[in-house]
This record gives sequence, C-alpha cells and structure tokens, in this order.
Amino acid sequence: MPGKVAVVGSSNIDLIMKMERLPRPGETVTEAEFAQVFGGKGANQAVAAARAGGDVAFVSCVGDDAYGGQVIDNLRTDGIDTRHVFPEEGVASGTALIMIDADGENCISVAPGANYRLTPAHVDRARDVIEAASVVVAQCEILPETLEHLIDVGARLGKLVMLNLAPARSLGDASLAKLGALAVNETEAEFLAGLPVKTDAEIEAAAEALLARGPKIVILTLGARGAWVAVEGHRGLVPGFEVKAVDTTAAGDAHCGALAVALVEGQALLEAVAFANAAAALSVTKLGAQPSAPDRAEIDALLRSRPA
Ligand code: ADP
Repeated sequence: MPGKVAVVGSSNIDLIMKMERLPRPGETVTEAEFAQVFGGKGANQAVAAARAGGDVAFVSCVGDDAYGGQVIDNLRTDGIDTRHVFPEEGVASGTALIMIDADGENCISVAPGANYRLTPAHVDRARDVIEAASVVVAQCEILPETLEHLIDVGARLGKLVMLNLAPARSLGDASLAKLGALAVNETEAEFLAGLPVKTDAEIEAAAEALLARGPKIVILTLGARGAWVAVEGHRGLVPGFEVKAVDTTAAGDAHCGALAVALVEGQALLEAVAFANAAAALSVTKLGAQPSAPDRAEIDALLRSRPA
C-alpha cells in the first residue's frame, strides 16, 4: 500500500479571461472569453496528486463567502480528505484574476484572503494528516511563519517535505536544509539562487547553488524542455513531452502534485520526474488550473508513448 500525501497551502477561485493578446497597462482588450474555475497552488497540487493516483489530504483556509463551501465540495469530488480545510470568519476566499493570450502566455493577480489566515496553529491542528503522510507538499501562497512551521513539523516527523517555491520568496537556510525536495521554475531559481538562469551552464550552476543550501533534491523545471534534477550522485535533464500548449497556468502545480505521488509510490527519482513531466505536459494542453490536471490513465498512456 503506497503512503499518503499531505498538501498544505492555498485554495483560490480563479476568474479567467482568455483573449487574443494580453493588455498593456491602461489598455482594454475586449472580445475575451470568461470562465470561473477552482485554483490556488495548494488546491491545484492536491487535485493534481489525487488525479495522479495519490491518497491526498489537504490543509487550507477558505472564507465565509459563497465560494468557501464550493471550494471544499470541489476538492471532495476528487476524493481529497478536507477535514482540515478550515472555514474562517470575516474574510473572502482567495481569489485570482488570470488573463491568458492565444499562445497560452498568462498574467495573474492574486488576493490571498483566507489563505493568509492559515496559521502555525492550524498546522498543529492538522498534525494527524501530516503524521499519516509520507510526503508533505507546500508552496508559498501562505504566510512565511506558517510555511516555516510546517517545514519544521514535517521534517521533525521524518517526512519528505517538498517545497514548490512559488511564487518566489526568500526562505532561510534553516528551512531550506530541512527540505527533502525543492521544486522551482527558472524565475524562482533565479530569485532564490540570485543567479541568472538562461543558458544550460547557468541552469546547472543555479541548481548547484540551491542544492548547496541544503535540500536533498533540487528539481528545476524548464517548461517544454522538462526538468533539471540535482541530487547527490546525479545531475541531469529529464526531458519533457511534446504537446500543443493551450494554457501553461498550472504546469508547475501538475508537476509537483504528480511528483509527490510518484515519490510516495517509491518510484526512482528520475522515473518520478518523468511521470511529473508527463502529467504537467498534459495539463498545458487544457485551459484552467484544476480542470487541466490529468488522471492516472492519461499520464500512464503518455509515458508509454516514450520512445524506448
Ligand atoms: P511553471 O508552470 O511553474 O512556470 P514550467 O513552465 O517550468 O513551470 O513547467 C513545469 C513543467 O511542466 C515542466 O517541467 C514540464 O514538465 C511541463 N511543461 C511546461 N510547459 C510545457 C510545454 N509547453 N510542453 C510540455 N511540457 C511542458
């Protein structure tokens, strides 16, 4: 029986506008198409993990507005344990405004709302699901003190704590050293390492610098190219899958959720990253954060399509 995944983080309502091209400041772009979907990096990763076949518990705060209950109901449709999704009084649920152009490029603004009500005390109240998990997944859409406490609790309990440093934020070396895995995209790597991340040599150097800060594994995602993996004894690219990109909004979330499941299942690291690349590639072929997360059968089918 594979272990469980605990995801701790944000849940949002995503208000999406799809348009030919993104507006410049002060400009109005008309003829957009509107959709409302469930998002938030935490919830996205919980859903991605559940669809990838994981046994998932989610820890988060929602508002006492009309959206709070919808967020919880939506997570339950994917079989996620929501006993620790806490409704908070007097605050709106997290909300994201997302604009996407015809090439799948996006522009996003987030109001954290209830997500900033998630405190270290909530993490302690959710200790049972953290204790029951073998992998604990976090992102940076919650308060820094909550994130640091979570990393500490997870590490003390001997869990593999995987942090997706998104959106990019500085994190002390004490917390970085407690991470089992650090997942970053190029922008986040550039921010945290304080180094440029464009050329292959720069990608390798940044991953090296991040590994030196203490996480056991660094996964630097490179969009369509796949992901660079740095771990003791191995450095290398795990190539991505060729797909037609429609919306890259939650590619990183699909990657993290699927990676957590593969690691819980005991897949070897490079195979686990290939599994995550497949899940993330499938996610960019569809519009929206959670609606685009693929299920296990789709991921397995894409993996089987790899040339031997
Ligand atoms: P983020 O979404 O956080 O910016 P990336 O753009 O690096 O992160 O994407 C995360 C992962 O999603 C990549 O490592 C890759 O596996 C997959 N991916 C992203 N864009 C594409 C694409 N155009 N084609 C195929 N896979 C993609």
